[in-house]
Order: sequence, then structure tokens, then C-alpha cells
Amino acid sequence: MEKRQDASINVYLNGLGLGSIAAAMYLIQKADFNPSSIHIFEQNGDKDLVGGSCDASERAVNGQPAYFMQGSRMFEDKVYPCTKELWSMIPYNDHESCLQDHEKNREECGIDTVVRLLHGNGRKDTGYRLGLNAADKLKMAKLLATPESLVPDGAKITDMFGEAFFTSNYWYMWRSLFAFQPWHSAVEMKRYMHLFFHEMPHMNTMVALERTRFTNFHSFILPALRFMREKGVNFHYNRRISDVDFETGPGGKERWIGRIHLETGSGEPEPSIEVRDTDLVFLTIGSMVSNASFGAHDRPVDQPAAGSENPGGAWTLWKKIAAKQPDFGRPDQFLRDISQSRMMTFTVTLRGGLFQRKFEWLVERQMGRQSPLPLTASPWILHLHTYRQPLFPDQPRDTCVIWVTALRDSNIGTFVKKTMPECTGREILEELLGHLQFDQDEAERNEILDTSTCIPCMLPYGISQFLSRAKGDRPAVVPAGSRNFAFLGQFVEIPHGIVFTTEYSVLGAIHAVKKLVKPSLAVPPMHFGQHHPLTCIAVASALAR
Ligand SMILES: Cc1cc2nc3c(=O)[nH]c(=O)nc-3n(C[C@H](O)[C@H](O)[C@H](O)COP(=O)(O)OP(=O)(O)OC[C@H]3O[C@@H](n4cnc5c(N)ncnc54)[C@H](O)[C@@H]3O)c2cc1C
Repeated sequence: MEKRQDASINVYLNGLGLGSIAAAMYLIQKADFNPSSIHIFEQNGDKDLVGGSCDASERAVNGQPAYFMQGSRMFEDKVYPCTKELWSMIPYNDHESCLQDHEKNREECGIDTVVRLLHGNGRKDTGYRLGLNAADKLKMAKLLATPESLVPDGAKITDMFGEAFFTSNYWYMWRSLFAFQPWHSAVEMKRYMHLFFHEMPHMNTMVALERTRFTNFHSFILPALRFMREKGVNFHYNRRISDVDFETGPGGKERWIGRIHLETGSGEPEPSIEVRDTDLVFLTIGSMVSNASFGAHDRPVDQPAAGSENPGGAWTLWKKIAAKQPDFGRPDQFLRDISQSRMMTFTVTLRGGLFQRKFEWLVERQMGRQSPLPLTASPWILHLHTYRQPLFPDQPRDTCVIWVTALRDSNIGTFVKKTMPECTGREILEELLGHLQFDQDEAERNEILDTSTCIPCMLPYGISQFLSRAKGDRPAVVPAGSRNFAFLGQFVEIPHGIVFTTEYSVLGAIHAVKKLVKPSLAVPPMHFGQHHPLTCIAVASALAR
């Protein structure tokens, strides 16, 4: 039975992250909801700084534009059907959807990598050989063949593979794409291995990797916000959902949210909202970008705003909710050890063209045609992401923006003898240039350092979604007996789904709308390459290389 398209129904969501945006878009575009009945509360007060993990912003540094992103995303066709369906529903301009523009961009600028890894002393490697030994190939097959229910609770990747696995080209390339660490969850690794199975033969060229034309924020978040605003969706900035009250029916089987508590971004209480069991509440629980802290070209990152006592809006809300009902998950499992869940990123605005010329010479490819480049000798575990320029729509012609992830920031650098959080943006860039061997000519090195702006960022929970976990640590999208609420984001349980992806946030939103609103809504199917004999043959021969 289709229900809920009643104009009197109010819908409440927390955060202008992708989970909320996807839920609102599906309600409007696929379930005919009245946009003006949708209310999204974003704790951030700055209208230019929304999108959650999918942010992108510009600031003026010494009178020149400098660009910044906390995160940046890669996509692929078979693994991202929900994300692509969402893009098809967002107008990009008067005559095209975001998906149509994306397809054009993909044709104009496909990825086809030659230099897939850069080892110590600048040694280039195509990544053609995956470098796995026979024992690890068998272990990989075993992990793939083991049903998820038989993988022990809390199992880590180190429980599944031997030491040599973690110095193989396969691991280096895998890690550059997905940011796994050896102590991360074996189940998450297994799920990724299934959904990206068909890509193993192309891990060197990465021909199927896709990037959006501009930053993800400009290519689909901003168009979605524009569309929703024009349709009448209510955005409430500087408003945080601080708690919700649950009501239960006779016997406790049915549950619904009866009240939403609000506060400003700085924690001042705001009037609460009464919610009927016919209204809808979609709550993003947990966030990878909570308590992010930033530095500057001449300043290291600030200490994260608060520790585990105040992990930020989406976590605090989840902690309060989880304390109310046993099946609402265990947020502390993902907050338990910042040293295992944090990552750093930095965005560099380079002016004058020298870096771009040197980089294109190094990798034998134009900027937009290169996959992430792992610098395997870097103690900070740097992965360099480069893009077709301009990455920001209004970027001046002679600038180039790159973005880099670091998975082990507490190590001492090779060229700058400090940990990463101790370094200014300039020092971090110095370390990057050293690994690229762009420091050999001192004049060139100084020119790059003097004409660029590097903005570092610390994400204390950046890879918390990969921490090893047990069944029940994550709640269902729509918990049993829910009449009016669903959970969204990276910390809900979606069978077979892979976290640390836009796909997970969009898929969760689709499940929520389907379950609470429109049972006939079709969920784009997942692709499992191992069920296709030709794919299995291609994977077997890649493993034999
Ligand atoms: C460094 C990095 C690299 C990534 N790379 C990739 C990639 O290559 N491919 C890929 O598919 N995905 C990638 N991702 C993952 C993807 O970006 C995220 O999974 C997705 O954007 C998460 O969206 P979300 O809405 O679930 O949560 P978030 O992005 O965390 O957004 C949550 C929003 O809600 C707000 N908020 C939270 N709590 C409250 C509250 N109580 N009240 C009001 N507002 C609140 C926050 O301010 C924020 O705006 C990456 C992410 C990061 C950080």
C-alpha cells in the first residue's frame, strides 16, 4: 500500500549531508512529497559550508583564492547505481541532469593510468603485478567464500592475511582507493572485495574510475540544494537536533518519535517540535567529518575541538538515542580509539603551472587522467589525488588544485622531521614534494612552495566506519516497529553495502523512503561480479600476473 503523500505530513531531517539530501530528493521526486513540508536542520551556521563530507569552499589568502575540501570522492559505474540514480533526479542546468553532465565529462576525460604507484627514490611502477603470494591469494579466496555470518565478530584484516599482504602492490593500490588500515574490519574488507571484484583486473589502469566534472560539492550537492530551495524545502541553518523523545504503543512493539529537541550550533536551547506518528523523521547518526579541525599554509591544524566526551552533533545525537533502546546500535564502538579512526587530508592550490607540468611529466598523463597515486615510501602514507582542472568552477586559469590523504599522520616525515599534526601546510607540502622528487632542483622547489597555499585538515573520525565491529553495533535503517523514523548515514546496517561511500548514504535513504513511504520504490540492484564466469576468469588471470 502506498501511503503518506498527504500534504499535512511534516518531514524532519538533521544535516545537509548526502544522506538527508538523498532522502529529501527521493521524497520529492519519487514519492510526490510536498517540498514545503520538508525541514532540514543543519548545525552549521555558514550557508557556504554545507554538504557534510561533500564540502568544498574557497577562501582568500593574501588576496588570492585558496581552495579547500575535507573529502573528495571517486566513483564507478557498477558500484554506484543509487548515487547515479540520485544524480539523474537533480537538474544540473536548464536542460541536463547532474548524471547527463557527468556522462559527458566522463567521455571528455577518462582515466587511464600509466604510473600507478610511486615507490621510494621515485621508482615508478605500473601496478600491473599485484604482488600477492600464493598463501595470500588463497586467503583472499577463503575470505570471499566465507559467508559473512561466519566471519567472527570483531575480526580485523590482520586476522585474515599474513604480513606480506600489507606490502604488496595489491594492498598499496587497494589502500589508495578505499583508505583501509590493517586493523580495520575484515567484514568491511570482504564486502568491498565482493562489490569491486570485477575491477581487480583493472587495478593498474583504473579505467573505470570516475570523477565529477568539478568538486563533488559543485557537481551534485549545490545543484541539489538549489533545486530543493527553489521547490520550497525549508533549510534551517545553525540548528542542531540535540535529542528526540520516543513513544511506544501498547506492548512496546510499535515505536515513534513524538518530539524533536533543537539547539543552535553553539548549544543554546531552541523551542522543541511536537511530532505526530504520521510525520517522518530521518536522522543521520555518526559522521566522519565531526570535529574536523583545520590549519593553514603557515599554521598546523588546531587541536580537534573536543574529545570523546563531545564527539559532535551526529555522534552525540546517536549516543543519546542508543541509550534509549537496545537495538539502536553502539556508537562507542566507532568512537573508541581516535588513533585508529583518524586521517588527515590537505588541499593545495598551486599557482603558475610548474607543479602541473612536472606532475604530468612524472605520470605520463594529463592531470585528469590519473588515478590516486600512492607514495608507498611515505611514512605518513600519502595518496595524491589529481583532477581535471579547473576543479572549482571559478578557479583562475593558472591555478591547479590537488588533494591528498594521509593515513598515518603520527609518523615522523622523511623530509620534514615532524609528525603531520605538528607541521604547517607549507611543511606538509615540502614533504609531498620530497616524495615526488620535485625537490631536486632547489629553485623549482622554492617556487612551488612560495606560490602555493596548502590547507591541512584533521578528521578524528575520518575512517571510524571501518573499525572492527560486531553484529548489532549498527542499527537497522528502519528499526522494527518504527512508525515514523529512520536512521541514515554511514553507521546503519545495510546488508552487503559498503561504508565510506556516497552509495551507502543514498542506498540508506532509498531503503528508508521505501519502507516508511513507498513500498513500490525500486532499489537499484548491487552487482556481484563473482557470479559472472568471464569476470572470474579475468580476476584469476589478474591474480596470476
Ligand atoms: C576524506 C573522505 C574521502 C571520501 N572518499 C569517498 C570516495 O572516494 N567515494 C565515495 O563514494 N565516498 C567517499 N567518501 C564518503 C562520502 O563522502 C560519505 O559517505 C557521505 O558524504 C556521507 O554523507 P552523510 O550525509 O551520511 O554524512 P555527513 O557527510 O557526515 O553529513 C552530516 C551532516 O549533518 C550535519 N549534522 C550532523 N548531526 C547533526 C545534528 N544533530 N543536527 C543538525 N545537523 C547535523 C553535519 O554538520 C553535516 O553537514 C569520503 C569521505 C571522506 C570524509
